[in-house]
Amino acid sequence: MTSIRSLAVFCGSRVGNIPDYAAAGRTLGRGMARAGIRLVYGGGRIGIMGVVADAVLAAGGQVLGVIPDFLTKMEVAHENATEMVVTDTMHTRKRRLYEESDAFLIMPGGLGTFDEAFEIITWRQLRLHDKPILICNAAGWAEPLVGAIDQAIAQGFADPGCRRLFEVIDSVEAVLDRLQTLQAGAQGEPELL
Ligand code: AMP
Repeated sequence: MTSIRSLAVFCGSRVGNIPDYAAAGRTLGRGMARAGIRLVYGGGRIGIMGVVADAVLAAGGQVLGVIPDFLTKMEVAHENATEMVVTDTMHTRKRRLYEESDAFLIMPGGLGTFDEAFEIITWRQLRLHDKPILICNAAGWAEPLVGAIDQAIAQGFADPGCRRLFEVIDSVEAVLDRLQTLQAGAQGEPELL
């Protein structure tokens, strides 16, 4: 097992309606650069995505953007990323993001972020990967998302073991601390069934 060198961050293409979200993104980016952890992300220069990427770059860190061709105009690809990969489809993009990362971090965002969060969690449930997944509950953002999972468990649609597929962490500072102790590689089998 090795330490985390590359982190995929899933987050919003908008900044949200309170400043705490962008502030969390800036703290994250700065902390990742200081820790020598490469940012792997969706390649946009807008929203929390852009905030995190700018903060990593400003602090001298490495950024890999992976963006599908059709979104390069809509999302406005970041022009200063250390490396930018343009993929043919959304699915190729997601696969590349997953392949390039040792762990995943869900930060505040909207529907696209929910999609990415649920996909990476369900892929782990299906044992298609065993990389760590962190959810940052900055300013309480993640409560409805985690609440939906808790409700699915309470209603008998998901196994209680699903709660061990990811870690919910209340602040970016605590996420940065956790990244120092987290190990890339085998996480052990989540006991689901
Ligand atoms: P959002 O949280 O909606 O701002 O989206 C954040 C990220 O999710 C961006 O990288 C988007 O390209 C991506 N995204 C947006 N919509 C979808 C979707 N329907 N399926 C998968 N990813 C999406």
